[in-house]
Amino acid sequence: MTEQSTSPRVAIVTGAARGIGAATALRLAADGYAVAVVDLEESAGKDTVDAITAAGGRALAVGADVSDAGQVEAAVERIAAELGTPAVLVNNAGVLRDNLLFKMSESDWDTVMNVHLKGAFLMTRAVQKHMVDAGFGRVVNLSSSSAQGNRGQANYSAAKAGLQGFTKTLAIELGKFGITANAVAPGFIATDMTAATAARVGMEFEAFKQAAATQIPVNRVGVPEDVANAISFFASEASGFVSGQVLYVAGGPLD
Ligand code: NAP
Repeated sequence: MTEQSTSPRVAIVTGAARGIGAATALRLAADGYAVAVVDLEESAGKDTVDAITAAGGRALAVGADVSDAGQVEAAVERIAAELGTPAVLVNNAGVLRDNLLFKMSESDWDTVMNVHLKGAFLMTRAVQKHMVDAGFGRVVNLSSSSAQGNRGQANYSAAKAGLQGFTKTLAIELGKFGITANAVAPGFIATDMTAATAARVGMEFEAFKQAAATQIPVNRVGVPEDVANAISFFASEASGFVSGQVLYVAGGPLD
């Protein structure tokens, strides 16, 4: 039997209430997946679920803090029971706690590490057993251009660089079970997250985006759908010979 005929069609996207996660959930639903829309509060996922349902797709909103092992285990078991065996996991949930190093608190550090790194670890550990049993899986982790270093983001850049190592190790360990793992590393994408950064530095979001665009070779900032398109490829059955890669989605060359 081929991968194609055995692969189940359920995708989990964390942090899918808005931004890149919401666009990814919608894209994967359009690709034919039933989508678990995971976010901190179940109610926060309602708009994404409604948009998927309105377009004729199937989705389930699930509330879970990805940095809490008990909540993650319960969420994944609920998804497996109500939607089916997860074939795709997109570790997208994220937060910022930017500050220059000398002002960065332990809590700023721990929060970012817990949501991005521990969250991806806990979600992947909980989901992989279903993928191993099925002999098929696609894990996509959200890294960032900030993995290469970014002023004010010692915590975030460390977490996003860490996710690249995590991704490569998953690819090595899980490949023999039909599971691939890849990372998408966006540059500047217009979302609530970058709007919050503009507010923090005291700029109007439009002016902030225009200033960012001048530094980007394609002369625009990204939109969530730019990232969702790349995730869609890594989530597809057709990407089975691509694993452990980091794809920068940044409107220009980064490596
Ligand atoms: P966003 O608009 O801030 O959305 C992030 C989502 O994650 C929110 O719905 C948030 O819920 C949820 N979330 C936060 N902590 C969570 C937790 N512990 N458990 C479950 N869900 C949680 O962010 P975005 O811009 O779409 O970014 C998505 C991902 O792409 C992140 O990993 C980010 O680091 C990465 N990324 C973004 C950019 C960019 O330019 N936007 C660039 C590179 C990488 P609440 O609303 O309740 O907080």
